[in-house]
Amino acid sequence: MPERESLVARAIARREEARARQRLRTRRTVTHRDGVHVEVDGRRLLNFCGNDYLGLAQHFQVAGALQDAAAREGAGGVASHLVCGHHAHHDALERELADWLQAPRALLFSSGYMANLAVLQALLGEGDVCVQDRLNHASLIDAARLSGCRLRRYPHADPEGAVRQLRASPDGAAMLATDGVFSMDGDSAPLRALALVAHAQRALLYVDDAHGVGVVGPDGRGSVAAARIDRSVQPLQLVTLGKALGTYGAAVAGDADLVDHLAATARPYIYTTALPPALSAASLAAVKLARREHWRRERLQELVQRLRAGAQRHGFELLPSDTPIQPLMCGDDATALAWSAALENAGFLVTAIRPPTVPEGRARLRITLSAAHEVAQVDALVNALATVRDRIARPGGGRAA
Ligand SMILES: *Cc1c(COP(=O)(O)O)cnc(C)c1O
Repeated sequence: MPERESLVARAIARREEARARQRLRTRRTVTHRDGVHVEVDGRRLLNFCGNDYLGLAQHFQVAGALQDAAAREGAGGVASHLVCGHHAHHDALERELADWLQAPRALLFSSGYMANLAVLQALLGEGDVCVQDRLNHASLIDAARLSGCRLRRYPHADPEGAVRQLRASPDGAAMLATDGVFSMDGDSAPLRALALVAHAQRALLYVDDAHGVGVVGPDGRGSVAAARIDRSVQPLQLVTLGKALGTYGAAVAGDADLVDHLAATARPYIYTTALPPALSAASLAAVKLARREHWRRERLQELVQRLRAGAQRHGFELLPSDTPIQPLMCGDDATALAWSAALENAGFLVTAIRPPTVPEGRARLRITLSAAHEVAQVDALVNALATVRDRIARPGGGRAA
Protein backbone atom coordinates (compact mmCIF):
# COMPACT_ATOMS: atom_id res chain seq x y z
CA MET A 1 0.00 0.00 0.00
CA PRO A 2 1.34 3.50 -0.81
CA GLU A 3 2.13 5.91 2.03
CA ARG A 4 -0.76 8.17 1.23
CA GLU A 5 -2.16 10.79 3.59
CA SER A 6 -5.63 9.83 4.78
CA LEU A 7 -8.27 12.39 3.91
CA VAL A 8 -10.10 11.65 7.14
CA ALA A 9 -6.94 12.23 9.19
CA ARG A 10 -6.32 15.45 7.28
CA ALA A 11 -9.85 16.68 7.91
CA ILE A 12 -9.52 15.96 11.64
CA ALA A 13 -6.16 17.73 11.81
CA ARG A 14 -7.56 20.80 10.04
CA ARG A 15 -10.48 20.87 12.40
CA GLU A 16 -8.22 20.76 15.46
CA GLU A 17 -6.06 23.49 13.98
CA ALA A 18 -9.14 25.66 13.46
CA ARG A 19 -10.35 24.95 16.99
CA ALA A 20 -6.98 25.95 18.45
CA ARG A 21 -7.13 29.26 16.57
CA GLN A 22 -10.77 29.85 17.57
CA ARG A 23 -11.68 29.61 13.90
CA LEU A 24 -14.06 26.69 14.16
CA ARG A 25 -17.35 27.47 12.44
CA THR A 26 -20.49 26.00 13.88
CA ARG A 27 -24.09 26.04 12.77
CA ARG A 28 -26.96 27.25 14.87
CA THR A 29 -30.27 25.51 14.42
CA VAL A 30 -33.27 27.77 14.09
CA THR A 31 -36.37 26.00 15.36
CA HIS A 32 -38.80 28.74 14.41
CA ARG A 33 -38.80 31.95 12.42
CA ASP A 34 -41.35 34.63 13.03
CA GLY A 35 -40.62 37.81 11.08
CA VAL A 36 -37.53 39.40 12.61
CA HIS A 37 -37.58 36.93 15.52
CA VAL A 38 -35.86 33.56 15.50
CA GLU A 39 -35.94 30.78 18.03
CA VAL A 40 -32.46 29.33 18.64
CA ASP A 41 -31.72 26.78 21.38
CA GLY A 42 -35.18 27.36 22.76
CA ARG A 43 -34.67 31.13 23.07
CA ARG A 44 -36.47 33.82 21.10
CA LEU A 45 -33.94 36.26 19.66
CA LEU A 46 -34.25 39.42 17.63
CA ASN A 47 -32.48 38.69 14.36
CA PHE A 48 -30.01 41.27 13.05
CA CYS A 49 -27.99 39.09 10.68
CA GLY A 50 -30.39 37.83 8.00
CA ASN A 51 -30.58 39.11 4.44
CA ASP A 52 -34.36 39.46 4.26
CA TYR A 53 -33.89 43.20 3.69
CA LEU A 54 -37.40 43.97 2.47
CA GLY A 55 -39.15 41.68 4.95
CA LEU A 56 -40.68 39.55 2.18
CA ALA A 57 -39.52 36.05 3.22
CA GLN A 58 -42.67 35.45 5.25
CA HIS A 59 -45.04 37.77 3.41
CA PHE A 60 -48.44 36.09 3.08
CA GLN A 61 -48.62 36.76 -0.66
CA VAL A 62 -45.20 35.18 -1.22
CA ALA A 63 -45.84 32.14 0.98
CA GLY A 64 -49.36 31.93 -0.46
CA ALA A 65 -48.08 31.86 -4.05
CA LEU A 66 -45.70 29.07 -3.06
CA GLN A 67 -48.50 27.04 -1.49
CA ASP A 68 -50.92 27.49 -4.37
CA ALA A 69 -48.37 26.61 -7.03
CA ALA A 70 -47.04 23.65 -5.03
CA ALA A 71 -50.58 22.30 -4.64
CA ARG A 72 -50.96 22.33 -8.44
CA GLU A 73 -47.42 21.64 -9.68
CA GLY A 74 -45.77 19.78 -6.83
CA ALA A 75 -42.61 20.39 -4.85
CA GLY A 76 -39.86 19.52 -7.30
CA GLY A 77 -38.26 20.75 -10.50
CA VAL A 78 -38.47 17.28 -12.15
CA ALA A 79 -35.68 17.77 -14.75
CA SER A 80 -33.15 20.25 -16.06
CA HIS A 81 -34.39 23.18 -18.14
CA LEU A 82 -33.18 21.78 -21.45
CA VAL A 83 -34.81 18.37 -20.90
CA CYS A 84 -38.35 19.01 -19.64
CA GLY A 85 -37.91 21.08 -16.48
CA HIS A 86 -38.61 24.50 -17.99
CA HIS A 87 -42.03 25.59 -16.73
CA ALA A 88 -44.36 28.51 -17.48
CA HIS A 89 -43.77 29.74 -13.89
CA HIS A 90 -40.06 30.09 -14.76
CA ASP A 91 -40.93 31.94 -17.96
CA ALA A 92 -43.22 34.35 -16.17
CA LEU A 93 -40.55 35.15 -13.57
CA GLU A 94 -37.85 35.66 -16.20
CA ARG A 95 -40.10 38.06 -18.11
CA GLU A 96 -41.00 40.00 -14.95
CA LEU A 97 -37.33 40.30 -13.95
CA ALA A 98 -36.27 41.49 -17.41
CA ASP A 99 -39.07 44.05 -17.41
CA TRP A 100 -38.19 45.30 -13.91
CA LEU A 101 -34.46 45.54 -14.59
CA GLN A 102 -35.03 46.97 -18.09
CA ALA A 103 -32.82 44.28 -19.59
CA PRO A 104 -33.47 42.47 -22.88
CA ARG A 105 -33.32 39.07 -21.20
CA ALA A 106 -33.17 37.32 -17.83
CA LEU A 107 -32.26 33.68 -17.16
CA LEU A 108 -32.96 31.78 -13.94
CA PHE A 109 -30.35 29.79 -12.02
CA SER A 110 -30.54 27.52 -8.99
CA SER A 111 -28.58 29.96 -6.85
CA GLY A 112 -26.34 32.99 -7.06
CA TYR A 113 -23.32 30.78 -6.53
CA MET A 114 -24.27 28.61 -9.50
CA ALA A 115 -25.06 31.66 -11.65
CA ASN A 116 -21.60 33.09 -11.04
CA LEU A 117 -19.99 29.77 -11.92
CA ALA A 118 -22.14 29.66 -15.06
CA VAL A 119 -21.39 33.18 -16.29
CA LEU A 120 -17.63 32.96 -15.97
CA GLN A 121 -17.37 29.33 -17.09
CA ALA A 122 -19.48 29.93 -20.21
CA LEU A 123 -17.93 33.23 -21.25
CA LEU A 124 -14.25 32.95 -20.29
CA GLY A 125 -11.50 30.45 -20.94
CA GLU A 126 -7.77 30.02 -21.00
CA GLY A 127 -6.13 33.10 -22.49
CA ASP A 128 -8.86 35.42 -21.20
CA VAL A 129 -8.67 37.61 -18.13
CA CYS A 130 -11.12 38.42 -15.36
CA VAL A 131 -10.29 41.43 -13.21
CA GLN A 132 -12.06 41.55 -9.89
CA ASP A 133 -12.37 43.75 -6.83
CA ARG A 134 -10.34 42.36 -3.94
CA LEU A 135 -13.46 42.13 -1.76
CA ASN A 136 -15.65 40.32 -4.31
CA HIS A 137 -17.81 37.45 -3.11
CA ALA A 138 -16.12 34.03 -2.88
CA SER A 139 -18.33 32.63 -5.64
CA LEU A 140 -16.82 35.05 -8.18
CA ILE A 141 -13.33 33.97 -7.25
CA ASP A 142 -14.29 30.28 -7.52
CA ALA A 143 -15.99 31.00 -10.84
CA ALA A 144 -12.81 32.49 -12.30
CA ARG A 145 -10.88 29.42 -11.20
CA LEU A 146 -13.43 27.10 -12.81
CA SER A 147 -13.29 29.00 -16.10
CA GLY A 148 -9.53 28.58 -16.39
CA CYS A 149 -9.01 32.28 -17.16
CA ARG A 150 -6.38 34.48 -15.55
CA LEU A 151 -7.72 36.12 -12.39
CA ARG A 152 -6.35 39.55 -11.50
CA ARG A 153 -7.58 41.36 -8.43
CA TYR A 154 -7.50 45.12 -7.89
CA PRO A 155 -7.66 47.10 -4.63
CA HIS A 156 -11.15 47.56 -3.23
CA ALA A 157 -13.33 50.03 -5.14
CA ASP A 158 -10.38 51.26 -7.19
CA PRO A 159 -11.16 51.90 -10.89
CA GLU A 160 -7.54 52.91 -11.54
CA GLY A 161 -6.44 49.56 -10.19
CA ALA A 162 -8.88 47.88 -12.56
CA VAL A 163 -7.41 49.81 -15.51
CA ARG A 164 -3.90 48.77 -14.53
CA GLN A 165 -4.88 45.11 -14.35
CA LEU A 166 -6.68 45.23 -17.71
CA ARG A 167 -3.76 47.04 -19.38
CA ALA A 168 -1.41 44.39 -18.06
CA SER A 169 -3.45 41.70 -19.86
CA PRO A 170 -4.15 43.14 -23.32
CA ASP A 171 -4.58 39.77 -25.04
CA GLY A 172 -7.67 37.64 -24.92
CA ALA A 173 -11.18 38.67 -23.98
CA ALA A 174 -11.76 40.45 -20.67
CA MET A 175 -14.38 40.70 -17.98
CA LEU A 176 -14.50 43.22 -15.15
CA ALA A 177 -16.49 41.63 -12.32
CA THR A 178 -17.56 43.38 -9.14
CA ASP A 179 -20.11 43.09 -6.36
CA GLY A 180 -22.64 45.94 -6.75
CA VAL A 181 -23.03 46.22 -2.97
CA PHE A 182 -20.22 44.47 -1.09
CA SER A 183 -21.60 41.65 0.99
CA MET A 184 -19.43 42.03 4.10
CA ASP A 185 -18.81 45.82 3.98
CA GLY A 186 -22.12 47.15 2.69
CA ASP A 187 -20.56 49.85 0.49
CA SER A 188 -21.32 50.26 -3.22
CA ALA A 189 -18.93 49.71 -6.12
CA PRO A 190 -17.95 52.83 -8.09
CA LEU A 191 -19.97 51.54 -11.06
CA ARG A 192 -19.97 54.69 -13.18
CA ALA A 193 -16.18 54.78 -13.20
CA LEU A 194 -15.90 51.01 -13.62
CA ALA A 195 -18.27 51.16 -16.61
CA LEU A 196 -15.99 53.73 -18.25
CA VAL A 197 -12.99 51.52 -17.58
CA ALA A 198 -14.76 48.48 -19.00
CA HIS A 199 -15.80 50.43 -22.09
CA ALA A 200 -12.32 51.84 -22.72
CA GLN A 201 -10.68 48.45 -22.20
CA ARG A 202 -13.30 46.50 -24.17
CA ALA A 203 -14.13 44.39 -21.15
CA LEU A 204 -17.58 43.06 -20.28
CA LEU A 205 -18.84 44.55 -17.00
CA TYR A 206 -20.44 41.95 -14.73
CA VAL A 207 -22.18 43.22 -11.60
CA ASP A 208 -23.02 40.72 -8.85
CA ASP A 209 -25.96 42.57 -7.35
CA ALA A 210 -26.95 40.03 -4.70
CA HIS A 211 -27.30 42.82 -2.11
CA GLY A 212 -28.35 45.66 -4.40
CA VAL A 213 -31.44 44.42 -6.18
CA GLY A 214 -34.64 45.29 -4.34
CA VAL A 215 -32.78 47.65 -2.03
CA VAL A 216 -31.06 50.40 -4.04
CA GLY A 217 -31.82 52.31 -7.23
CA PRO A 218 -35.11 53.54 -8.70
CA ASP A 219 -37.91 51.00 -8.02
CA GLY A 220 -35.30 48.85 -6.29
CA ARG A 221 -33.74 47.96 -9.63
CA GLY A 222 -30.34 47.69 -8.01
CA SER A 223 -26.82 49.07 -8.28
CA VAL A 224 -26.67 49.30 -12.07
CA ALA A 225 -29.79 51.46 -12.25
CA ALA A 226 -28.64 53.49 -9.22
CA ALA A 227 -25.36 54.31 -11.00
CA ARG A 228 -27.18 55.49 -14.16
CA ILE A 229 -24.58 53.85 -16.35
CA ASP A 230 -24.61 54.77 -20.02
CA ARG A 231 -26.91 52.38 -21.88
CA SER A 232 -24.20 51.57 -24.43
CA VAL A 233 -22.23 49.70 -21.74
CA GLN A 234 -24.90 46.99 -21.16
CA PRO A 235 -23.50 45.18 -18.15
CA LEU A 236 -24.61 41.72 -17.12
CA GLN A 237 -26.30 41.84 -13.72
CA LEU A 238 -26.71 39.03 -11.20
CA VAL A 239 -29.93 39.10 -9.20
CA THR A 240 -30.25 36.75 -6.26
CA LEU A 241 -33.70 35.84 -5.03
CA GLY A 242 -32.65 34.61 -1.59
CA LYS A 243 -31.85 38.01 -0.10
CA ALA A 244 -34.04 41.10 -0.54
CA LEU A 245 -36.65 39.08 -2.42
CA GLY A 246 -36.99 36.59 0.41
CA THR A 247 -37.17 33.36 -1.63
CA TYR A 248 -34.43 31.31 -3.30
CA GLY A 249 -32.61 31.15 -6.63
CA ALA A 250 -31.00 33.71 -8.91
CA ALA A 251 -31.12 35.23 -12.36
CA VAL A 252 -28.69 36.84 -14.78
CA ALA A 253 -30.06 39.81 -16.72
CA GLY A 254 -28.56 41.55 -19.73
CA ASP A 255 -27.77 41.36 -23.41
CA ALA A 256 -29.92 38.78 -25.25
CA ASP A 257 -27.05 37.17 -27.15
CA LEU A 258 -25.00 36.72 -24.00
CA VAL A 259 -27.89 35.40 -21.93
CA ASP A 260 -29.01 33.00 -24.68
CA HIS A 261 -25.43 31.76 -24.89
CA LEU A 262 -25.51 31.00 -21.16
CA ALA A 263 -28.73 29.02 -21.52
CA ALA A 264 -27.25 26.97 -24.34
CA THR A 265 -23.74 26.35 -23.01
CA ALA A 266 -23.25 27.02 -19.29
CA ARG A 267 -22.64 23.72 -17.53
CA PRO A 268 -23.98 24.92 -14.14
CA TYR A 269 -27.21 25.71 -16.01
CA ILE A 270 -27.51 22.62 -18.17
CA TYR A 271 -26.49 19.88 -15.77
CA THR A 272 -28.73 20.65 -12.84
CA THR A 273 -32.40 20.31 -11.99
CA ALA A 274 -34.59 23.33 -12.65
CA LEU A 275 -35.79 25.33 -9.64
CA PRO A 276 -39.16 24.10 -8.40
CA PRO A 277 -41.80 26.02 -10.42
CA ALA A 278 -43.67 26.78 -7.19
CA LEU A 279 -40.62 28.64 -5.94
CA SER A 280 -40.65 30.75 -9.09
CA ALA A 281 -44.29 31.59 -8.44
CA ALA A 282 -43.31 32.75 -4.96
CA SER A 283 -40.43 34.80 -6.39
CA LEU A 284 -42.78 36.41 -8.91
CA ALA A 285 -45.05 37.54 -6.07
CA ALA A 286 -41.99 38.88 -4.21
CA VAL A 287 -40.71 40.81 -7.25
CA LYS A 288 -44.10 42.44 -7.72
CA LEU A 289 -44.11 43.54 -4.07
CA ALA A 290 -40.52 44.77 -4.26
CA ARG A 291 -41.28 46.85 -7.35
CA ARG A 292 -44.42 48.39 -5.94
CA GLU A 293 -43.90 48.88 -2.22
CA HIS A 294 -41.46 51.76 -2.00
CA TRP A 295 -42.20 52.16 1.68
CA ARG A 296 -40.00 49.14 2.36
CA ARG A 297 -36.94 50.91 0.96
CA GLU A 298 -37.87 54.15 2.73
CA ARG A 299 -38.24 52.31 6.04
CA LEU A 300 -34.84 50.69 5.51
CA GLN A 301 -33.20 54.08 4.98
CA GLU A 302 -34.82 55.37 8.15
CA LEU A 303 -33.51 52.37 10.11
CA VAL A 304 -30.03 52.68 8.58
CA GLN A 305 -29.79 56.35 9.64
CA ARG A 306 -31.11 55.49 13.10
CA LEU A 307 -28.57 52.72 13.63
CA ARG A 308 -25.67 54.80 12.34
CA ALA A 309 -26.55 57.81 14.47
CA GLY A 310 -26.93 55.63 17.58
CA ALA A 311 -23.71 53.69 16.98
CA GLN A 312 -21.74 56.86 16.33
CA ARG A 313 -23.12 58.47 19.48
CA HIS A 314 -21.65 55.57 21.42
CA GLY A 315 -18.32 55.79 19.59
CA PHE A 316 -18.53 52.57 17.61
CA GLU A 317 -16.60 52.18 14.37
CA LEU A 318 -18.95 51.56 11.45
CA LEU A 319 -17.86 51.23 7.85
CA PRO A 320 -19.11 53.87 5.39
CA SER A 321 -22.29 52.18 4.17
CA ASP A 322 -25.77 53.46 3.42
CA THR A 323 -27.20 50.02 2.73
CA PRO A 324 -28.87 47.63 5.22
CA ILE A 325 -25.45 45.97 5.71
CA GLN A 326 -23.89 47.86 8.63
CA PRO A 327 -20.67 46.18 9.80
CA LEU A 328 -19.46 47.12 13.25
CA MET A 329 -15.72 46.62 13.40
CA CYS A 330 -14.25 44.64 16.30
CA GLY A 331 -10.69 44.08 15.09
CA ASP A 332 -9.65 40.78 16.59
CA ASP A 333 -11.65 37.58 16.39
CA ALA A 334 -11.96 37.19 20.16
CA THR A 335 -13.68 40.55 20.58
CA ALA A 336 -16.09 39.83 17.75
CA LEU A 337 -16.96 36.45 19.30
CA ALA A 338 -17.32 37.89 22.80
CA TRP A 339 -19.60 40.70 21.65
CA SER A 340 -21.71 38.32 19.62
CA ALA A 341 -22.09 35.93 22.57
CA ALA A 342 -22.96 38.72 24.98
CA LEU A 343 -25.52 40.15 22.55
CA GLU A 344 -27.11 36.74 22.31
CA ASN A 345 -27.43 36.66 26.09
CA ALA A 346 -29.21 39.99 25.80
CA GLY A 347 -31.62 38.57 23.21
CA PHE A 348 -30.05 39.64 19.89
CA LEU A 349 -28.69 37.39 17.14
CA VAL A 350 -25.73 39.02 15.38
CA THR A 351 -23.17 36.54 14.11
CA ALA A 352 -19.47 37.41 14.26
CA ILE A 353 -17.80 37.41 10.85
CA ARG A 354 -14.16 36.37 10.92
CA PRO A 355 -11.34 35.61 8.48
CA PRO A 356 -11.15 34.10 5.92
CA THR A 357 -14.57 35.57 5.07
CA VAL A 358 -13.05 38.99 5.82
CA PRO A 359 -9.34 40.01 5.83
CA GLU A 360 -7.17 39.30 8.91
CA GLY A 361 -7.70 41.83 11.70
CA ARG A 362 -11.04 42.93 10.23
CA ALA A 363 -13.40 40.74 12.28
CA ARG A 364 -16.79 42.33 12.71
CA LEU A 365 -20.39 42.07 13.66
CA ARG A 366 -22.23 42.20 10.35
CA ILE A 367 -25.44 43.90 11.44
CA THR A 368 -28.18 43.76 8.83
CA LEU A 369 -31.47 45.59 8.84
CA SER A 370 -34.86 44.64 7.47
CA ALA A 371 -37.90 46.74 6.61
CA ALA A 372 -39.66 44.44 9.09
CA HIS A 373 -37.61 45.85 12.00
CA GLU A 374 -39.11 48.53 14.23
CA VAL A 375 -37.24 51.72 15.13
CA ALA A 376 -37.48 50.72 18.82
CA GLN A 377 -35.79 47.38 18.04
CA VAL A 378 -32.85 49.19 16.42
CA ASP A 379 -32.59 51.47 19.46
CA ALA A 380 -32.60 48.41 21.72
CA LEU A 381 -29.76 46.86 19.71
CA VAL A 382 -27.66 50.03 19.98
CA ASN A 383 -28.18 50.15 23.75
CA ALA A 384 -27.31 46.49 24.10
CA LEU A 385 -24.15 46.98 22.06
CA ALA A 386 -23.01 49.83 24.31
CA THR A 387 -23.70 47.79 27.45
CA VAL A 388 -21.90 44.75 26.07
CA ARG A 389 -18.86 46.73 25.00
CA ASP A 390 -18.54 48.51 28.33
CA ARG A 391 -18.94 45.30 30.30
CA ILE A 392 -16.37 43.41 28.25
CA ALA A 393 -13.86 46.29 28.24
CA ARG A 394 -13.92 46.47 32.06
CA PRO A 395 -11.13 44.39 33.63
CA GLY A 396 -12.73 41.35 35.15
CA GLY A 397 -15.77 41.85 32.96
CA GLY A 398 -15.85 38.59 31.24
CA ARG A 399 -16.45 36.90 28.04
CA ALA A 400 -18.70 34.54 29.85
CA ALA A 401 -21.00 37.46 30.70
C1 LIG B 1 -25.13 35.48 -1.37
C2 LIG B 1 -24.27 35.92 -2.50
C3 LIG B 1 -24.09 35.13 -3.62
C4 LIG B 1 -24.65 33.75 -3.72
O1 LIG B 1 -26.02 33.76 -3.88
P1 LIG B 1 -26.87 32.46 -3.41
O2 LIG B 1 -28.14 32.60 -4.14
O3 LIG B 1 -26.98 32.57 -1.94
O4 LIG B 1 -26.08 31.27 -3.84
C5 LIG B 1 -23.35 35.63 -4.67
N1 LIG B 1 -22.78 36.85 -4.59
C6 LIG B 1 -22.91 37.63 -3.51
C7 LIG B 1 -22.25 38.97 -3.50
C8 LIG B 1 -23.65 37.19 -2.42
O5 LIG B 1 -23.74 37.94 -1.33
